[in-house]
Amino acid sequence: MLTTNLNLRYLAHLIENDLSTTDKTRYQLAYANLVNLANGSEKIKITTATVANRKQLLSFAQDVIKAYTARQDGLDVQLPVMPTMWAHDAIIKAQNGLYRGTWAESYNNLFNWFYGFDYKGLAIFASDGNTKLPFHAFSALPMLTCPGADSCIAYCYSFKAFRYPRAFMRQLVNTLRLISVTGTQEITNAFMSIPNNETVRLYVDGDISTLTVLEYWFNLAKARQDLRIYGYSKSWEIFLDYAKTGQDFPTNYILNLSGGSKYESPLYANIKARVSQLPIVRGEFIAVKTDIHMPKGTTSKEIRKSSNWLKYQQAVMDAAEKLGHKKVFVCPGRCGDCSAKTHACGNPALNIPIAIAVH
Ligand code: SF4
Repeated sequence: MLTTNLNLRYLAHLIENDLSTTDKTRYQLAYANLVNLANGSEKIKITTATVANRKQLLSFAQDVIKAYTARQDGLDVQLPVMPTMWAHDAIIKAQNGLYRGTWAESYNNLFNWFYGFDYKGLAIFASDGNTKLPFHAFSALPMLTCPGADSCIAYCYSFKAFRYPRAFMRQLVNTLRLISVTGTQEITNAFMSIPNNETVRLYVDGDISTLTVLEYWFNLAKARQDLRIYGYSKSWEIFLDYAKTGQDFPTNYILNLSGGSKYESPLYANIKARVSQLPIVRGEFIAVKTDIHMPKGTTSKEIRKSSNWLKYQQAVMDAAEKLGHKKVFVCPGRCGDCSAKTHACGNPALNIPIAIAVH
């Protein structure tokens, strides 16, 4: 029940104390919406039934990051209020007795985490166990954590997850966790609790944003030699900065160099050549444009058996060749069984580029 979960008393306290009139109105609106939601009634009319778009979500995320950073500096800055129009889906669903999967539910999780209240939800690692990605997967916010981003922004699949409030909030809270001592401790605890000999993917959404973050992950990888860890990154200069520190690379981490970054420019040819030489690098993972979509299916076998697979595979190979890649492994999009030995992106013996159509 929302009323027991959401710290309404704390929100009420905020309303009563030292808020400017504008802020008071915003808090009161959010409070009233959430209370009404908890009661399953709609006393406040939400006139703007707008679904949150990418721009609004990124702007909200930036405001939350700013507020959280200020709190780390000891300032008493409050969590920005969820725009009331996002509550629309929650109110409609609440009228039908549904609360899960709404913006209000996820905002509630964010609220409780932000203020350090007793909190459940927004697991640090996703581990769905499906053939698409049957691994423990970490995500942060796309774009805001991607210093190497460039043309990839136009087709970045991570934004598709913004449709799902829990996925967006998990990305946001993980981004916040990485900038605080208590947050990183939470990640460390979750990482050290991953069962033995599992596979971990760093990252699905977002990227390594700083050298500190990379050092943090590499220290964790070294502490769990039993785990097989792999990832994709466009933060190539950060990996080169790590090499410069003289520290060893973890032997259980494999890096795929993602395409679509700013380093595709000939101006950065030197960086691409240097990063490719790092001992952790498997090879490139590129996205190409084709007219043909990957066939659908739940397993790689099913996808490769489909009548359209050969056409799709050829189209991807042709597009990759135009970019100078003579031989590529065409990704079927099902990491659980894409290759006989181990998943292709985590196989250091497969050192040709892996290619997929932009989807
Ligand atoms: S090649 Fe295999 S492991 Fe890599 S993304 Fe595609 S399905 Fe997943």
